[in-house]
Amino acid sequence: MTDSYNGKEIIDHDYDVLVIGAGGAGLRATLGMCAKNLKTACISKVFPTRSHTVAAQGGISAALGNMTDGDDWRYHFYDTVKGGDWLGDQDAIEYMCKHAKDAVIELEHYGVPFSRNEKGEIYQRAFGGHTLNQGESIAKRACAAADRTGHAILHTLYQQCLKHKAEFYVEYFVLDLIMDDKGACHGVTALCMEDGSLHRFWGHQTILATGGYGRAFLSCTSAHTCTGDGNAMVLRAGLPLSDMEFIQFHPTGIYGSGCLMSEAARGEGGYLTNSKGERFMEKYAPHAKDLASRDVVSRAITIEVMEGRGVGEKKDHALLHLEHLDPKIIAERLPGISETARIFSGVDTTKAPIPVIPTVHYNMGGIATNYHGEVLKDKKKTIVKGLMAIGEAACVSVHGANRLGTNSLLDIVVFGRAAAIRTCALIEPNTEHAVDRPYEQSMKGFKRLFKIKDNKGSLKTSEVRLQLQNTMHAHCSVFRTENVMLQGVEKLKDVTNAYKDIKIYDQSLIWNTDLIEALELENLIQQSVVTLHSALNRQESRGAHSRDDYKDRDDKKWMTHTLCALNEDGSVTLSYRPVMAKTLTDEVDYIEPKERIY
Ligand SMILES: Cc1cc2nc3c(=O)[nH]c(=O)nc-3n(C[C@H](O)[C@H](O)[C@H](O)COP(=O)(O)OP(=O)(O)OC[C@H]3O[C@@H](n4cnc5c(N)ncnc54)[C@H](O)[C@@H]3O)c2cc1C
Repeated sequence: MTDSYNGKEIIDHDYDVLVIGAGGAGLRATLGMCAKNLKTACISKVFPTRSHTVAAQGGISAALGNMTDGDDWRYHFYDTVKGGDWLGDQDAIEYMCKHAKDAVIELEHYGVPFSRNEKGEIYQRAFGGHTLNQGESIAKRACAAADRTGHAILHTLYQQCLKHKAEFYVEYFVLDLIMDDKGACHGVTALCMEDGSLHRFWGHQTILATGGYGRAFLSCTSAHTCTGDGNAMVLRAGLPLSDMEFIQFHPTGIYGSGCLMSEAARGEGGYLTNSKGERFMEKYAPHAKDLASRDVVSRAITIEVMEGRGVGEKKDHALLHLEHLDPKIIAERLPGISETARIFSGVDTTKAPIPVIPTVHYNMGGIATNYHGEVLKDKKKTIVKGLMAIGEAACVSVHGANRLGTNSLLDIVVFGRAAAIRTCALIEPNTEHAVDRPYEQSMKGFKRLFKIKDNKGSLKTSEVRLQLQNTMHAHCSVFRTENVMLQGVEKLKDVTNAYKDIKIYDQSLIWNTDLIEALELENLIQQSVVTLHSALNRQESRGAHSRDDYKDRDDKKWMTHTLCALNEDGSVTLSYRPVMAKTLTDEVDYIEPKERIY
């Protein structure tokens, strides 16, 4: 059928499967399905190797035991459950940790150039929260390609996809899901950014691998493209997002620019100090010290600053020291972060400490799924037909209330692979498409596109974005209280209203970055509303969600995932999904909640 919108032709494409996103998660899924002859389209708003995965530095976790005798995936399982403050689903965590070793060896065989130890095996380093035997000693579990692990993985996966003749639609901006009246997904609508043409991609399965939404905050480590577009598409389809209140602040973003100084720096022996030159982490985590998990270290820095022991003119940050390390080790193991420190803070890491501040880094929340990647829509875990989500966009949930470093690169390859396996089991190659399709519903995305483009307002997208980012940074930060968040909710209403008054200055559809940024901004606003309401609602402190007015974890009331949907009038509907109270198999025991001390 030939269709058009606003006088512009709509180009239709039929595929077995659509993968939205070409980061590590999207590419791993694409690869798995192309290898099994499913007709797969991978659609990305940036060239695949520019996806944020490329920036991952420190490593990917797997209990290979190359550098720590006796490491075991069950220790990794325990650390991940504890790291997530018991909010993670233990069936999914078991699945991820058990498959970690195979996933990393598979990457090695695909061609990832991992660093090597003296025996020629994959090099592994220490990372926060990774231990042996339930915290007895530190485990070196992060498999690394110097401090450019994500770069190595992403390029290798892209090459493997090319080898399997994957079809890419590069610089296509996906607008919305095409849902039918029964709530099943049939594909997506998209704008080709290069020539402004309109597209409809139809698939028996749509896999969202669109990454996180760090850009809702003023200072974050993630790329400008990390606007969580897939999450917002899910909200607009009337589906809830899960655990959005859990935002990870990385303790060591460079002061001023927010660029990441990987935890690998502390894994190699780096440490933090305050204005008195004290190694303050000894006070907050006597055992793990600078290698405690991220929420713990971020809170420690924030407290040091609040109590007047911050460094610098404004006494508002801390220092990260590497200058005591052998310059050869820094050059070999941390070349990327040395370069970043030089460019963004003017520091030579072999001579002086780096100024750092907690910075938004990762979204534990996202689209609720089971460990096959299938999207769940309610507390009964009803599966949304035709829709999957993987990677940072998804909430499986393996990271619970706080992700351990190096577990995301693992998450994206393990669940990218799992989604491909599930899809291959569900769909035969070249399955025919129905003649009768939800054509009318497919117009929703185009309607939104033109409504935004033709809006008769007065504000610039960048002004409203700054207003949003300031609001989220001030009102949904490391420490939270009801009062501060309620003010935030009011300010978000102002942001939503301001958005109605934007003007797109460039009126063409060809390479219109103003328009794309406006579309991304709407996505950020919608996720921010859901995030702030979820945070306000959770009256306890758990993992990265730290409330001054509810300081304790409350397992009786809050051992549950939040589900938050956005209504058309801007209000939200909250519901809950119980945390999985058992493991997948009897190879490992369920870990009962207990106090989390490092
Ligand atoms: C600086 C930094 C360092 C990190 N270091 C580590 C580390 O050492 N170890 C670790 O485990 N984790 C690390 N992480 C986290 C980890 O890298 C990410 O969580 C992970 O790579 C996310 O992968 P992804 O495939 O889900 O998404 P991404 O890599 O973000 O890819 C998202 C994809 O979706 C596409 N997309 C999005 N919206 C649209 C749209 N509307 N239309 C079309 N396409 C769209 C994009 O083009 C892109 O291809 C780090 C993160 C950062 C920011």
